[in-house]
Amino acid sequence: MDRRERFVRFVRVLEELYPKIPKDKAPVKLMKEVKSTSPFHALITTMLSPRVRDEITHRVAGELLRRAPTPEALCEMPLREVEEILKPLGFYRQKAKNVKEAACRIVKEYGGRVPDNLEELLRFRGVGRKVANIVLYNAFGKPAVAVDTHVFRIIKERWKVLPEAKRPEDVERFVMEVLPKDMWGKVNVYMVAFGQAVCKPKNPSCEVCPLRDECPYAKRIARRSHGV
Ligand code: SF4
Repeated sequence: MDRRERFVRFVRVLEELYPKIPKDKAPVKLMKEVKSTSPFHALITTMLSPRVRDEITHRVAGELLRRAPTPEALCEMPLREVEEILKPLGFYRQKAKNVKEAACRIVKEYGGRVPDNLEELLRFRGVGRKVANIVLYNAFGKPAVAVDTHVFRIIKERWKVLPEAKRPEDVERFVMEVLPKDMWGKVNVYMVAFGQAVCKPKNPSCEVCPLRDECPYAKRIARRSHGV
């Protein structure tokens, strides 16, 4: 089996596993619910998520969007008030500026609607490829591969199907070459839940993982513990 075939097989296993992972083990599932509600909620929630645990982002973004549920409302909210709500997040001052600016631009430049293409999303301050691709898939149902730390780590270091990857774009290209378009967006959804619940950055739960007999990382750990 070459690495492409192995990758496709591993993703299929995650597809079966995903519905069985409980929300409290994979808070990304809570985030997925918010991201699917509206493009604006998806954009703001995802912009707030970098370097914050999903359960905290979910709570704080929920509070912000409860008080400012539309681009108009967020644009009008005083910056100090936005900062106050976002305080539990890392980099909250910058994030407050970014989401308020995004809301105002959506109102003024896009008639209150979040743009649905990568080029325009990338023009918002605080929106990189990962955030844009998450919004495109979750809010607009467009094929897009979002490579975050879980996706990058699992593909490069655990499954070793692309050990030479240097940047998220390398992984993004690989996924787009190997998987059919309807699977592109799902890779992030499945792999983040898997990375939070099973294949954790420290102490992965290999003993309960359905991939343990084929996973190069697990095989290496087993060899080490047998002194081979
Ligand atoms: S066997 Fe362990 S390292 Fe390999 S994919 Fe499963 S949890 Fe991750």
